[in-house]
Amino acid sequence: MEKIELCLDDKKGELFFGDNCNIMLSRSQIAWLQRELEKVIGPAYSSILYESAHIYAHHMISDIMDGVMKASGKLHKEQLAEEMVKQLAVWGYGRGEIVEIDLSVPYSKVKVVNSFNALDYEKTQKPVCHFLRGIIAGSSCIITGIEMYCLETKCVAVGDPFCEFEVIALDEAKRRRLSD
Ligand SMILES: [Zn+2]
Repeated sequence: MEKIELCLDDKKGELFFGDNCNIMLSRSQIAWLQRELEKVIGPAYSSILYESAHIYAHHMISDIMDGVMKASGKLHKEQLAEEMVKQLAVWGYGRGEIVEIDLSVPYSKVKVVNSFNALDYEKTQKPVCHFLRGIIAGSSCIITGIEMYCLETKCVAVGDPFCEFEVIALDEAKRRRLSD
């Protein structure tokens, strides 16, 4: 386990990790918040969370990708995708790995162990990792240069041993009537 340093300015009530001001929420608090919002908003909540994470990824991932490129030199898009999936662990979202990737289709399958979305969620009938789906879809858009869609095919919250995501072009998802 790696130690990280957080800096608390208790006079201002601000907590910093590096230059970023953060708040501390436990995994169970996030699961509770998601469950309560789903109760109030209904099934549309999954789309709201997915789309907001997708937009967030567009804003954030470009900077992170620039950092990865600077640290690693020029990478093929597949290698870049591998590096981006590794970043999930750095953010505390879970440990990600690419199971399959073929950007000529384009298609990829991503496995996430210890998804922060799923681990403290009560057992449910449908996958719940909508924030992770959005992050993976947004990252995939930046890597492929086209609009991509992410579907969760396995989830710890429904009893699977890990979460798994498939990423395809948004046009293909619409053709298959998969998109939110
Ligand atoms: Zn999941």
